[in-house]
Amino acid sequence: MIDEPIRFTLAGRLRSARPRVPSVVQAMGSFGESDTRRPELLARKLRHAVFLVLGDLDGEPLPLTLAGEIAADPAARAAVLAARVALFEGLRDRGAAWLLCPACRRGEVELSLAELASKLAAARAPIADRAGALLPLCLSSEHELPSRPVALPTAARLRFRLPGAAAGLASPAAGGVLGRVDPRREAQAWDTFAPIGVDPPDEHFDWTFEEPGFRATLRLSVALESLDDQAVDGPAALEPLPVCDLLFLDELYRLAWLTPARATLAASVECGACRAAFLPVR
Ligand SMILES: [Zn+2]
Repeated sequence: MIDEPIRFTLAGRLRSARPRVPSVVQAMGSFGESDTRRPELLARKLRHAVFLVLGDLDGEPLPLTLAGEIAADPAARAAVLAARVALFEGLRDRGAAWLLCPACRRGEVELSLAELASKLAAARAPIADRAGALLPLCLSSEHELPSRPVALPTAARLRFRLPGAAAGLASPAAGGVLGRVDPRREAQAWDTFAPIGVDPPDEHFDWTFEEPGFRATLRLSVALESLDDQAVDGPAALEPLPVCDLLFLDELYRLAWLTPARATLAASVECGACRAAFLPVR
């Protein structure tokens, strides 16, 4: 999928580009792309979206001005944004989760996002609207954790493999453990990294509460218990990851922590080591 060229027609000419997966920091401002009442800002965001996902154009470097021309052409823009959705959603599915058995604490059950969603009878989260504009992430909003049924235990730990490394993309991390967003630790993180009433430094100009991508990145940095066995020290640790890793972890969080689960055998998984049944949620 990462090897498939993105093809579109611009000014009557068929063009071909190598897809590129931006990092979290490059794509920070891309979530909620269509959520703007300022046309000039929307045009800039769409040009940025096109520029980020096209690694070249017919083998030549893509200048920003040409990205603007592509973004201004409705058919070319639609083709590029649709290719981006397919690329990002396809990569997101390369991640995997392992749920630790709460009975023996040895056995783990491996599930993909699609398998986890199916177990929980939950819909998959679309990453974009119908025009191909990226939607805000789940973690861009604050969520209360649902109560869990007492009839069946839940997983004791949620380990994951990141899709970027699995797909062979350059990435500083391959996996980790996903905990929950603790409200007290989240408040501390806001105080530390984006205090209210203080302008962000130039090198982190989008580290503000108003930026949906940053809200999700900051909350995720609080929720992650570890990345490659290292503690996660703030949102900067997540910025070099390919953006598909953020999309994966955002949906994994939504499914495993926020989706209500019923205590039924159909919704449960079985430990391969001790045969205990448990719910594939935290
Ligand atoms: Zn077990």
